Amino acid sequence: MQVKEKILLFKTWLDKQPSTYKRVISGALAVFLVLGLLSMVAANRACAIEVDGKVLAVVKDKTTAEAVINSLIKKQQGKAANVKITQEVLCKTVKKDEAEVVSAEKCTEILAKNLSFEAVAVGIKANGGLKVAVKDREAANLVLAKLKQAYQIDPDNTLSFKQKIDLVDLPVKADKIKAVEQAVKYLKGESDKPRYYTVKEGDTLWDIAVRFDVTPEELQAANPDFVPEKMQIDQKIKMVGALDPVIDVVATTQKTIQEDVVLAQQVRKNPSLPYGQSKVIQQGEKGLKEVTYQITAVNGMETERKVLKEKVLKEAKAQIVERSSQTMVASRGLSRPAGAILSPFGMRSGRMHTGIDLARGYGSPIQAAQSGKVIRAGWYGGYGNCVDISHGNGLVTRYGHMSSISVKVGQTVQKGSIIGKVGSTGRSTGPHLHFEVIVNGVPRNPLSYL
Ligand SMILES: [Zn+2]
Repeated sequence: MQVKEKILLFKTWLDKQPSTYKRVISGALAVFLVLGLLSMVAANRACAIEVDGKVLAVVKDKTTAEAVINSLIKKQQGKAANVKITQEVLCKTVKKDEAEVVSAEKCTEILAKNLSFEAVAVGIKANGGLKVAVKDREAANLVLAKLKQAYQIDPDNTLSFKQKIDLVDLPVKADKIKAVEQAVKYLKGESDKPRYYTVKEGDTLWDIAVRFDVTPEELQAANPDFVPEKMQIDQKIKMVGALDPVIDVVATTQKTIQEDVVLAQQVRKNPSLPYGQSKVIQQGEKGLKEVTYQITAVNGMETERKVLKEKVLKEAKAQIVERSSQTMVASRGLSRPAGAILSPFGMRSGRMHTGIDLARGYGSPIQAAQSGKVIRAGWYGGYGNCVDISHGNGLVTRYGHMSSISVKVGQTVQKGSIIGKVGSTGRSTGPHLHFEVIVNGVPRNPLSYL
């Protein structure tokens, strides 16, 4: 006599009413019992686990099958709540001697690969788009708090998100649910998978490095076969460090700092001076002021600095120079932007400093070092607000960390014309002008070109 029974086991595991579940199980047990008593071949029975109509494994009995599936669900429950199996799982009674009965371990291995679990998780949405799913609300709030914390600019700052953030309950495949640290990393733009940057026209290795806040050496190490001089458009470069964050953290704070005031040199013409001579009429003197700023940073990088209060502590004096009024031959080089050198060109704390940093007060005008055409005018990664001017023959000058830009791409500028104001945008610790000279795509020491 052949006994066949199909017991609905785990089609919808936890979302099923316990009473219904119990009824099904007890009903099945009753059938099993009656049939079992009647059957002379009960000892020859095994349980074939059928997933969506396909037998995946045969175990010695239903209890074993249940235990295996329970342990798999339990494993998923560490990651999320309300875990259920999305497929139809049945235990089909078969004759033991007609099938290959596997151990519980082997069965676990097979089912782990073939069962698909769904869970109710909490999704973090930014401007309506789902970004990441975590276990529950507590985990989601922890992720958001940790993300904010990562971009704190000082202990008294106010932190918020640039995007509108919503938390939603939603069913997701269990393997899509991220642990807290994983979710934070993902939202910061960090990923465990290798990422590639596609080279665009006009990119230099230094540009790419600065944009992604890594050193050219780090990029070179990640791409051992890469030859910077042979970089080509559409070439893929393996990236290290973070990409653009998925959610942006805005930090605002107030800071009161003392700043030097350095006035521009005043030049007067004096016809009585012989050709080429000059005379200092008044020695320049640094002044000092106390400024209260409202600083805004996005993902730790300053984007705006507003002057709230300003108090002069010591008046500055401009250096006044008299020069012969006879025309002098104009210098062929670039004119040096004003300001004392705070930081020279070259290696600086293990990182290549690709330009010179000049001390200038916040909001001081920046003049073009030479006539040319504006080829960049806008936000540029670590440079913040940045202007590039092409002077022909592969010579480009770059002005970084500006508080405002007053030129547009494509515009022709004259030597000495004002292109914007000094600021502290991008990767910068205070107001200064970062001045760079790029020759055929490679940053050179500006002092050799002035
Ligand atoms: Zn610099």
